[in-house]
Amino acid sequence: MIKKIDSYILLIATVVVFGILFNTTPAAAEEGFVTLPEIVNSTVTPRIVYIENPRFPKVSAEELQKIVHYSAALVKEHFGIDILASADIPVLDIDKVFTELVENKPEKLDDFIGDFRNEKVNWEVVRKNLIKQIEKQKDPLASQIEFAQPYLSMPMEKEDIISFSHAVIETFKAGLSHWTVSKLEDGHPVIGAVTGRPDLPFNEYVYWSLMAKRGIKAEIILTNQLIASVEYIPVPLHTSIRGGITGGSTEYNPSSKYGSSVWVSLFPYFSNDPFIRKYRNGNSYTREKSLYYAGVMLAHEIGHQLLQLGHPWSNKACVMRPAGMLDFVSWVKNLDASKCPIDSSAAMKRGALNIPVW
Ligand SMILES: [Zn+2]
Repeated sequence: MIKKIDSYILLIATVVVFGILFNTTPAAAEEGFVTLPEIVNSTVTPRIVYIENPRFPKVSAEELQKIVHYSAALVKEHFGIDILASADIPVLDIDKVFTELVENKPEKLDDFIGDFRNEKVNWEVVRKNLIKQIEKQKDPLASQIEFAQPYLSMPMEKEDIISFSHAVIETFKAGLSHWTVSKLEDGHPVIGAVTGRPDLPFNEYVYWSLMAKRGIKAEIILTNQLIASVEYIPVPLHTSIRGGITGGSTEYNPSSKYGSSVWVSLFPYFSNDPFIRKYRNGNSYTREKSLYYAGVMLAHEIGHQLLQLGHPWSNKACVMRPAGMLDFVSWVKNLDASKCPIDSSAAMKRGALNIPVW
């Protein structure tokens, strides 16, 4: 069954929505994909920034370098590309970044966000979108149920798509509301307003998309922020049962040397929250392992960015095959570059992935 942690497919769905917001025509959206970047001498020099939320667990400059270092080794091994990264990773203040985004956002942007913080989500719309997603999959319903069942927060009345969709939506709801209750070390919920701090939509996926669209001057963006949200666009099953967590994405960025920028959220690797641990198959990670797994995730996104590779679901040796839920141990255990060369499957061909320009 299909499981993944990043969500470029969600983005492709989003682009249709944003096309409306920005008055671009559907025809333009269809034609408009990021050009396959030209990699000179098999070497790249990405600009990397770190967006820090001071409320979340701190990641040191040295640790950020380690993530990039681990990632670079995998990119070399799996894709034959050298990453020459600067020794300095500038730290950007998340308040400043998001204040600018909110001040210049498209008028209707927030209409696509489910306001779970105020319990104002129209879950019936989300459920109908989910049913469409389930029906579109190649896997039969039974195997989708089998995949999701261990994570469902309520039992299914019947083994049909209606009962299944209700159980998945309840699970999605419970997952999201967990973050409005579960607390960080400062005693305040992971997601929610904190006295004395600006109340900005840090956790909302569409704003991270907008950040790239607005041309943040970086090819790689790392953050310690958790991104978890619900949108009124088709959300994949695996994202739904994970409570709307997005681990990273590759998105059109007009300022990027490669036409797109990638972002990776480090929270799923460092947090020991019971919800996260459940999706990690119960595992806690040492700090070093967390850094390594985050590096693997970054390498995966860089494969989308530089070679525009897709997701080779059937080959567990590929770093481009997404992780199962948040179970990074079994993901990494199976990786083997020699068993997943470029061109070894349709998804492993350069340009297999279309990154929409919007
Ligand atoms: Zn991916």
